[in-house]
Amino acid sequence: MAFQMHKHKIPFKIIVDPSQKSASEVAAGLINPLVFKRLTKTWMADALFPKMYETYAEIENLLSTKFIEQKEMIKPLTEQDLPMWQKRIEQGKMNHYIKRIDKNLKLEGFKPIEHYGALTQTGSCNLNLMIQGMRNFLRQQNYLIKDHLKIEDVTFENNHVYWKNHAAEKIIFCRGYQDAKNALFPEGSFYLTKGELIEIEAKALCEDYILNKNLFVLPTGNHRFKVGATYQWDNINAETSKEGKSELLTKLDKLIDTDYTVLNHWAGVRPTVKDRRPILGIHPQNSSLAIFNGLGTKGVMLAPYFSEQMLKVLEDPHAETDNEVKLDRFF
Ligand SMILES: Cc1cc2nc3c(=O)[nH]c(=O)nc-3n(C[C@H](O)[C@H](O)[C@H](O)COP(=O)(O)OP(=O)(O)OC[C@H]3O[C@@H](n4cnc5c(N)ncnc54)[C@H](O)[C@@H]3O)c2cc1C
Repeated sequence: MAFQMHKHKIPFKIIVDPSQKSASEVAAGLINPLVFKRLTKTWMADALFPKMYETYAEIENLLSTKFIEQKEMIKPLTEQDLPMWQKRIEQGKMNHYIKRIDKNLKLEGFKPIEHYGALTQTGSCNLNLMIQGMRNFLRQQNYLIKDHLKIEDVTFENNHVYWKNHAAEKIIFCRGYQDAKNALFPEGSFYLTKGELIEIEAKALCEDYILNKNLFVLPTGNHRFKVGATYQWDNINAETSKEGKSELLTKLDKLIDTDYTVLNHWAGVRPTVKDRRPILGIHPQNSSLAIFNGLGTKGVMLAPYFSEQMLKVLEDPHAETDNEVKLDRFF
């Protein structure tokens, strides 16, 4: 959102409290256009993907930092999976994303893979690198205010919003899962998901592909890999747990066959919405109040496309947006 505002020369300030837990800071940043369960494209993939790669290239250029890495993804398949994969290839609708199906793959450190699908347009976004670069840029441009935003400190008057000694035409809430309890918006639209992730070091594990079978193994360089993630819908908090780690290690041990060391373990809360769609728009009863949230499990893919839609709504409240993401649906 900050990049879009900067790009379109809209004056703004970002208020961020870095001590607050952020899903982006723990996310693996995986990019995957397919949903494997029924082998469908992820929602709106054909629109999201070109915009995603285009926008991140612009940000990389702005920050002089490379944080997107495209890498083929290998999805091990069972005999039962094969007919559906073959059908999709014959239908031709996914040839953009499915490169081939093949058999007998032996990758160093992984157990032998009998059948697999190889995907393209997959990869990852190094979110920590991007966020750090973006924060430095925002600081240099004097856009950044490091502070904690309390709802009680926000007031509205005469088509303006006031917070501490700042006044603006609009405030846009992008506080991730913390907006699930934002009293300015309808209650009960979020259905949060906790996730856990580990980082391992494995000297003899192949780094050429992303592996994805019940969990992903994402190479990040120097024999390090991010391995995740768990999904938990009760007991929502951002703390790591023994159960989360053990679930990941059990699944990992089914996939790999080499020594490794666990270097890190993280947990976070995904800002998932009940209908699994983003939420964006201006409050129907308060033209100074807006939200851009609900990026859920796929923030990396959704943010570029929908931040551009959000910008259009800010410029013209009647601008066309996808019905499924409109804030109005919760009123
Ligand atoms: C374990 C895990 C793995 C994931 N893996 C992937 C993945 O591989 N690919 C993918 O696309 N997505 C993944 N996600 C989802 C992704 O993290 C989210 O979609 C995305 O990060 C949401 O971004 P956000 O900016 O809305 O929220 P956040 O990243 O949570 O950002 C919210 C920001 O608001 C700030 N903030 C909160 N409250 C306040 C306050 N009161 N005052 C000031 N600032 C405040 C926080 O400091 C933070 O900077 C994963 C999530 C988890 C938990």
